[in-house]
Amino acid sequence: MTDFAATRARFHLPKGITYLDGNSLGPLPRAARARLEARLQDEWGEMLITAWNRAGWMDEPLRLGDRIGRLIGAPEGSVVVGDTLSIKLYQALAAALALRPERKRVLSDTGNFPSDLYMARGLIHSLGRGHGLELVAPEEIESRIGPDLAVLMLTEVDYRTGRRHDMQRLTRLAHEAGALVVWDIAHSAGAFRVDVTEALADFAVGCTYKFLNGGPGAPAFIHVAPRHADLALPALSGWLGHDAPFDFELDYRPARGIERMRVGTPPVLQMAALAAALDIFDEVDMAEVERRVAALSERLIQGVAQVAPQLDLASPPAPEARGAQVSFRFEQGYAAMQALIDRGVIGDFRAPDIMRFGITPLYLGEEDIDRAIEAIGEVMSKRLYEEPRYQVRSAVT
Ligand SMILES: *Cc1c(COP(=O)(O)O)cnc(C)c1O
Repeated sequence: MTDFAATRARFHLPKGITYLDGNSLGPLPRAARARLEARLQDEWGEMLITAWNRAGWMDEPLRLGDRIGRLIGAPEGSVVVGDTLSIKLYQALAAALALRPERKRVLSDTGNFPSDLYMARGLIHSLGRGHGLELVAPEEIESRIGPDLAVLMLTEVDYRTGRRHDMQRLTRLAHEAGALVVWDIAHSAGAFRVDVTEALADFAVGCTYKFLNGGPGAPAFIHVAPRHADLALPALSGWLGHDAPFDFELDYRPARGIERMRVGTPPVLQMAALAAALDIFDEVDMAEVERRVAALSERLIQGVAQVAPQLDLASPPAPEARGAQVSFRFEQGYAAMQALIDRGVIGDFRAPDIMRFGITPLYLGEEDIDRAIEAIGEVMSKRLYEEPRYQVRSAVT
């Protein structure tokens, strides 16, 4: 049984704040401070360069990868951390395209996170081999899978609405058409149950600063299905993905397995914080997290319907069709969210009109949801979003 009071106690949650934005940046695990301090003092400070071996810095991307692997149904040795998600997505797509050299069509949807689409376009441009990126509405994906498809590249959970694709079904359909699938699980890993093995995903990528709480700038991860691991072409052929980086050969030879997806020097300080965050997941049953997500989401949806009927539910009403977030449409959503943040309820806004609330049971309970409902009710009934000070846009929304 997951003790949610215990997991909550393991986070630093600022006084007076109700945090419903763990889908963008998870809160600080209390243990991260001591982990970072030890890394700074005992390792970097005292061991200097010998820490790469003595403190195990060099292999840490693989150890952390295995720990993430347990949360996403990936076998040992099939996940590695490093770089940012945009880069891991690029690597996965490049490898997938190289495994289907005769096909030129990449399919994704308009609900995908723009960075994934930008990276795909950049890759296609660099390849210069006439690939095309086709974008359709999420519900049209299925009908566009066909025998000329090279790669289906999707994010499981729509960052705006929280709508969730059926990973298993779409992967099976793509495979039947002879295509490969790259899944972005940025809004899935640590949020609910994921099983990339059961779904037969070819590649999966995600970040660790959202639901995994690894901290701002924490490294991303990439999973390559073992059946592809020794065939996948590392498009970003950096020295740490080389079979023998410290032989300093002039030619690149990819490492065996997932290690070839490493690029350069890992973010050693960030990995210390991520390790502290993953410790918390050791005590967590993701099936229970998923049930709590459904219950808390339902509570928020019902409560908002009562106090703020002006907000339109943008998320699917069925829990299994949704990730760990609830979104509402409201024309003045940006200003309304600023007014909420001013009252200590932090969610976020995604253009053009989405107010988004992350549902993270590791540190949120019924009382937090109720506080949020109350604040939403106040902002809407008093039309606080009309105040000029809430209209000013910051660079980061
Ligand atoms: C958060 C997110 C990103 C961000 O990528 P970074 O390179 O880590 O900044 C990319 N894609 C998706 C689907 C995301 O949810």
